[in-house]
Amino acid sequence: MSIYPYHLSHIEIDRQVLSSNARYLHRNLNSTTRSLAVIKADAYGHGAVEVARTVGDLYDMFAVDNITEAVALRKGGITHPILVFGVPVPQTVKAYPEYDLEAVVSSDDHFDLLEQGTSYHVEIDSGMGRLGIRPEETDRIRRRIAAAGRITCKGIMTHFASADEVDSAYMQLQKRVLEQIRDVFGGAYPLHAANSAASLDHPDTHLDMVRHGIALYGYDPTPDPSDLLKPAMKWHSWVAQCKRIRKGDSLSYGATWQAPEDGYYAVIPVGYADGYRRNLSGLMPVRIDDAWYPQVGRVTMDYIMVWLGDDRFGAGTEVLVMGGSRNHAGVWADAIGTIPYEICCGIHTSVPRVYV
Ligand SMILES: *Cc1c(COP(=O)(O)O)cnc(C)c1O
Repeated sequence: MSIYPYHLSHIEIDRQVLSSNARYLHRNLNSTTRSLAVIKADAYGHGAVEVARTVGDLYDMFAVDNITEAVALRKGGITHPILVFGVPVPQTVKAYPEYDLEAVVSSDDHFDLLEQGTSYHVEIDSGMGRLGIRPEETDRIRRRIAAAGRITCKGIMTHFASADEVDSAYMQLQKRVLEQIRDVFGGAYPLHAANSAASLDHPDTHLDMVRHGIALYGYDPTPDPSDLLKPAMKWHSWVAQCKRIRKGDSLSYGATWQAPEDGYYAVIPVGYADGYRRNLSGLMPVRIDDAWYPQVGRVTMDYIMVWLGDDRFGAGTEVLVMGGSRNHAGVWADAIGTIPYEICCGIHTSVPRVYV
């Protein structure tokens, strides 16, 4: 039976798996390299406060995208330094000193905008082409930092666009820009750049701190993934109904699937309203009682159907919808041409998270 008998499904997060992923990611760091855990988007759908509590001992710092996420961490009792990747705006600048949050300065205006006493990191756009100040500006920025006595610079950061790719040409280009940045700032401020992929595959980018996101949750983004990282997330549901079907009869919208023989199928109460993507229709198996069964027919808003052949299961039998060896978020992502990041944070927050 499910832990939450009143819910149609729940996400189970394994704390031990998170901790062992974190330990694995720390094994190739120097003793002087600090580490930051990226827990934006509710820790990629895993629950930011709980993830922070679970891996807090191993990380020096956390990062989120926005002030709302950061304040939720403070209210959840998290006392680590918190970096807010997103840009400061007039409506949020008071929150940085109030909640002891570190800002990212991504344009000249941000120097003036931040409130007295705020700590900040300067982001340089070394080729990601998203936030950050262009590298041609670094000389001038160095002088601005020195002149901005009201606020405190705690670091210089940049972000890689393709640390996870086999073809490292663009990565090499960004590494060269990173070296220029290093020359300009000459060790005056801690420098950080590496995401999960760079932390795993490009130790020369570790510098003063690494930033771990996806790998912490168990998905190795590098071209040659390690099987020592394990997905921490499982999606459990249960059989709502088990029904008989005759050979040739069809299931679900569009009647796209017909039973190959007389048999049984299960109706499982998860659907695209929960984040079970409709374009996964017919692609992912589920596990019931240690056996794998194919999901068949179209995914509907609140249900999927699973072909059982001759097997039958009572209502309430537990079903592993996602998170096993053959159906974890990485397998889902590959099946529909996306990345586990999108799968994990696409499971709606209305699906309860349970920590084991
Ligand atoms: C999301 C993010 C990361 C983490 O990236 P992963 O690939 O998940 O490790 C690091 N740095 C910045 C600036 C980010 O936005």
